[in-house]
Amino acid sequence: MGGVLYTRPTAEVWPEFWKDAPLERCVIEQNAWIMTEDSAIKLGYRSAKFAEDVPNAFTVLRVKVDQYFAQQAEAAGALIISETKVDEVLREDGRVVGVRTGRPQGEVYAPVVILAEGVNPILARELGMHEDLDPSSAALTVKELLRLDPEVIEERFGLDEGEGATIEMYGAPTMGMLGTAFIYTNESSLSLAVGVLLSEFAEVPDTPHDLLQQLKQHPAVAPLVEGAEPAEYMAHLIPEGGYDKMPALFGHGVMIVGDAAQLVNGIHREGSNHAILSGKAAAETAIEAHHKGDFSERTLGHYRQRLEEATPTIADLRKYRKATKFMERHPILKVYPPLAAYAFEEMLTVDDKTKRQKQWEIIKEALRRRKPWAMAWDAIEGGLSFI
Ligand SMILES: Cc1cc2nc3c(=O)[nH]c(=O)nc-3n(C[C@H](O)[C@H](O)[C@H](O)COP(=O)(O)OP(=O)(O)OC[C@H]3O[C@@H](n4cnc5c(N)ncnc54)[C@H](O)[C@@H]3O)c2cc1C
Repeated sequence: MGGVLYTRPTAEVWPEFWKDAPLERCVIEQNAWIMTEDSAIKLGYRSAKFAEDVPNAFTVLRVKVDQYFAQQAEAAGALIISETKVDEVLREDGRVVGVRTGRPQGEVYAPVVILAEGVNPILARELGMHEDLDPSSAALTVKELLRLDPEVIEERFGLDEGEGATIEMYGAPTMGMLGTAFIYTNESSLSLAVGVLLSEFAEVPDTPHDLLQQLKQHPAVAPLVEGAEPAEYMAHLIPEGGYDKMPALFGHGVMIVGDAAQLVNGIHREGSNHAILSGKAAAETAIEAHHKGDFSERTLGHYRQRLEEATPTIADLRKYRKATKFMERHPILKVYPPLAAYAFEEMLTVDDKTKRQKQWEIIKEALRRRKPWAMAWDAIEGGLSFI
């Protein structure tokens, strides 16, 4: 994970966790940069409200927060069996009755199994509940953790102690391919990453590592990461299939949650919140099934109903169901960032041209780069896909 952890959904499971959990920084500023190879158009929103009473989000390092949440679960009575792989889901008469793990005598029986196996759901596929991983439905993201003194981070990002900022970057950092790059400020490190749809990566000779190294050299990024020491490197997939790739969420004796169920809203960088909310909805359904003594699809179907009615998860995925396909069909990240940079440069350069001349030159340049009907189509289909 990047990662930005959203407070309110997380607090539905662990109330007021931010008072003692090992978090990095409270995010008070979020930025979006539209970039060419040597420039950046910067949009941002900063508000002290994001840090008030119930803060909106925190940057986190999973290695620390996962341990904290595991301890909370154990304190509530859960038995965590770590370093153990589930090899197979056990079935009897068409219903799931447990799992077989890699341990000796590793069969564990249960009236209900909740699969939370992440982006590559091998077990859900074996149950016939999930399609094969499709390269146009997953983004490969590589991330470096760069150590930097807290005071240096605060000075470079204009932050006070404990405050954090995020920057999402579009255009040149992914060579115009469908994806994003990001920088998140942790307490004494930066998370720097680039992610691109697998199907698009397959078309270019460049590796994810190449893109990350190029990003560090970018004139807008280099001063932020200067002198930072690489401490960790990771690569991971993010589900991007959205609503149309969501598997069956439940079957007899089984439910699927989080990334394994494709519950990620890539447009808004939200995955952990949907994983947590779906975990809660599945747990509530399991408790209901225990009370009724009925673990059939009829009762476990209430899991989907809870996700629909009590969380924004499915409604948000449905809203953006056409967005990824739109971005695949329309090369907007290739066309518009350089055009926008050209327009800014032209209008901000003071020379002997009049402003009207400059406007005409921008219009001519836009028409040279993209046909008018294609631009109109980008706007109409883009509007329909995102609004
Ligand atoms: C680079 C990156 C940045 C991200 N940034 C953000 C962000 O800023 N904010 C945000 O909200 N989301 C972010 N996400 C998405 C977020 O990380 C996921 O949506 C979230 O972690 C999903 O949680 P999960 O529990 O479903 O899956 P995971 O966190 O992937 O956990 C699945 C676990 O199951 C284990 N597992 C798999 N198979 C088996 C098996 N057979 N037996 C036993 N264990 C198994 C895996 O080892 C893993 O530990 C990011 C993702 C990436 C890759």
